[in-house]
Amino acid sequence: MKGRSLLMIPGPIEFEPDVLSALGEPTPSHLAPAFLDAFGGALASMREAWLCPSGQPLVVAGSGPFAMELAAANLVEPGDRALVVSTGVFGDRFVDLLGRHGAEVTALSADVGGGVDLNRIEDAARKTKPRLLTVTHVDTSTGVRMPIAEIGALARRHGAISVIDGVCSVAGEEIRQEAWQLDVVLTASQKAIGVPPGLALLVAGPRALERFEARKQPVRSYYADWSKWLPVMRAYEARTPSYFGTPPVNLICALSVSLRQILEEGMDVRFVRHEKLSRAFQAGVDALGLCQVPADSTWRAHTLTACYLPDGIGVSPFVRAVGSAGVVIAGGLHPDIRERTFRVGHMGAVRAGDILAALGAIETGLREVGMASLPGAGVAAAARTLAGISGD
Ligand code: PMP
Repeated sequence: MKGRSLLMIPGPIEFEPDVLSALGEPTPSHLAPAFLDAFGGALASMREAWLCPSGQPLVVAGSGPFAMELAAANLVEPGDRALVVSTGVFGDRFVDLLGRHGAEVTALSADVGGGVDLNRIEDAARKTKPRLLTVTHVDTSTGVRMPIAEIGALARRHGAISVIDGVCSVAGEEIRQEAWQLDVVLTASQKAIGVPPGLALLVAGPRALERFEARKQPVRSYYADWSKWLPVMRAYEARTPSYFGTPPVNLICALSVSLRQILEEGMDVRFVRHEKLSRAFQAGVDALGLCQVPADSTWRAHTLTACYLPDGIGVSPFVRAVGSAGVVIAGGLHPDIRERTFRVGHMGAVRAGDILAALGAIETGLREVGMASLPGAGVAAAARTLAGISGD
């Protein structure tokens, strides 16, 4: 027994061997020519992965909440109105975060497992005239995916800058930042971008940069201030040394490898792969008689699945039993449903075999905690979906 296990939580995910090797290379100077190339190349690749040729990429050491702060701190000034669309814990965080930066925040919240209708967002924007509109693309606490193709245009109609929290979606879910007129799309490295935790990433479009440049007051956060980081990013892309804070050199080398792999696969192929694998996984959990947190399939994410357990089954023993069967999954996160739900990530390097392995371990875990199911029912449903055979 090698003690191997398959990591299927919604981040960090399983990473590609070449990405991990890059991380383990001897650390170069942050000013060495080879590193200038790696960092400059990674920034250019971000424009392609975000499908935003006119965007300005930023990469700074930090995790997801810092990527959110990199957007919030620079794009609101005290007294600005902000509209937050929340479909879970991470949307709610924007309310707190934007408030700390002095914004007057209106929150539009969904019921747990639901999304927020675009008409409701349009109405609220008309009434509140926000300077900033935030939407969590996929909220990891509920598995809800918001449609964002119309959000950029909607924000523009009302004079707002749009900020998309894509921590659980960038490089997995379809995002066309420029075509969809989204002003900022942010993420963190440990999810579908495929790099161990530690990088906050975002791409800012021209309107976001204009808004930043027109600020009347200095940014209140020292570390998040774009005026410190933009010259550094521009210098690295021009392959010239620059410094504000020492970059996380090894992580950035790993990022350049991962982005190269992502672009080799191709964004369209990648979006379709995530959709197909999520359909298969979700067909599997349906066949096991489990209810998904987003009851309506139109709100379901392609990067993770959140499910309820039947009454009387404890999440911790179940997650432990699935772990003993070789697959690491996550318990609940949203406070209202934490004790009744589990979550499975399927993004980044995930393959069809991982989907089947995860479902097999889930079936084993369900039997261990006393829920009878026909052995192989979930795996078979997923395999049929993968093969394009319907008929359930
Ligand atoms: N936003 C979203 C949508 C997330 O799913 C998460 C984390 N799962 C975060 C922000 C926070 O990022 P991190 O995991 O790096 O703390």
